[in-house]
Amino acid sequence: MARNLRAEVNLAAIRHNYQLAKSQAKMAKAVAIIKADAYGHGAVQVAKSLSGVADAFGVAAIEEALELREAGIEEPILLLEGFFETDELKLIIQHRLWSAIHSLEQIDRLEAFLDAHPTEGLCLWLKVDSGMHRLGIHPADFNQAWSRLQARSEVAELVVMSHFACADEPERQDTYKQIEAMSRCLEGVDAKVSLSNSAGVMHWPQAHYDWLRPGIMLYGASPFADGHALEASQQPAMTLTTQVIAIREVPAGDAVGYGASFVCDVPMRIGTLAVGYADGYSRHAPAGTPVVVNGQRTRIVGRVSMDMITIDLTHHADVQVGDSVELWGEQLSINEVAKYCNTIPYTLLSGLTRRVKRIYKDQ
Ligand SMILES: *Cc1c(COP(=O)(O)O)cnc(C)c1O
Repeated sequence: MARNLRAEVNLAAIRHNYQLAKSQAKMAKAVAIIKADAYGHGAVQVAKSLSGVADAFGVAAIEEALELREAGIEEPILLLEGFFETDELKLIIQHRLWSAIHSLEQIDRLEAFLDAHPTEGLCLWLKVDSGMHRLGIHPADFNQAWSRLQARSEVAELVVMSHFACADEPERQDTYKQIEAMSRCLEGVDAKVSLSNSAGVMHWPQAHYDWLRPGIMLYGASPFADGHALEASQQPAMTLTTQVIAIREVPAGDAVGYGASFVCDVPMRIGTLAVGYADGYSRHAPAGTPVVVNGQRTRIVGRVSMDMITIDLTHHADVQVGDSVELWGEQLSINEVAKYCNTIPYTLLSGLTRRVKRIYKDQ
């Protein structure tokens, strides 16, 4: 019998969540963000299942885009960070990719390239730094950047984009400030605009504009640490399960796992599961982190090791070696698990390693 750790990916749920994003802004289109192997769900499979549904796909780098083209994905693919090396422009043109442009220095290199390589039909997304201070053109340089790119006959389409730093925290003022900074840039400019990541899609209708960029919400997880009304309409896309591989009785006073950090205060029945941090399960999952076995919740005890974890089966006498355990998914929200681990669902999903078998279902 093989080690039975698997991530079952529900492609129909991802399509549902994509439509849910689009239904928040009926006039807008949406780039389905499938960078980082579609947040661990498998970019090629996710793109195939959204093919003909999604208006475009978004990835972090050209390697991710080329993998999709090789798999036969024909939709537009946006490089969210644009090109790193000027050489990539050849591939961007050859494969009809859309590229973000986030600095004046990139525009210099683009202009020089275009002077030497006649082309047409480029689609560029001019990225503005509206306050996050990570990537993007300074608002004071926006007019210069916009007119330089507009002046190029090779550029068929120019979208203006920006990214939010705090859209997942509705009570803060930062997002209002970013939206205002963008409307100042856009005064008198006739452009299609894209501001909203999942948190923007879910909570900031005034930032919807023309193109949404939902990522995490496609996977049925939420960017909001404290919950959001729309979560009730999402469907979890991934259910991570493994098996009980051993069970033992441990006397009161004995410890379980590395560092002997968990000591049984009463005699306990301990189950060992085939999942650990080398699979991407967080080593920061503390004792008490929930798991679901035979439809019942129980908890991790002891430290997460590389290949195994231990759980409390004291009150689960029915559970046997071989039984399946859900680590997150349909019965246990990944947002809840992330909270226990003091992290966000993004790191849990994108951190799953290739040791985890992905199984696809589409219904
Ligand atoms: C990753 C990313 C997104 C998606 O963000 P989520 O929070 O996952 O929805 C959108 N836009 C840009 C530029 C990104 O890098």
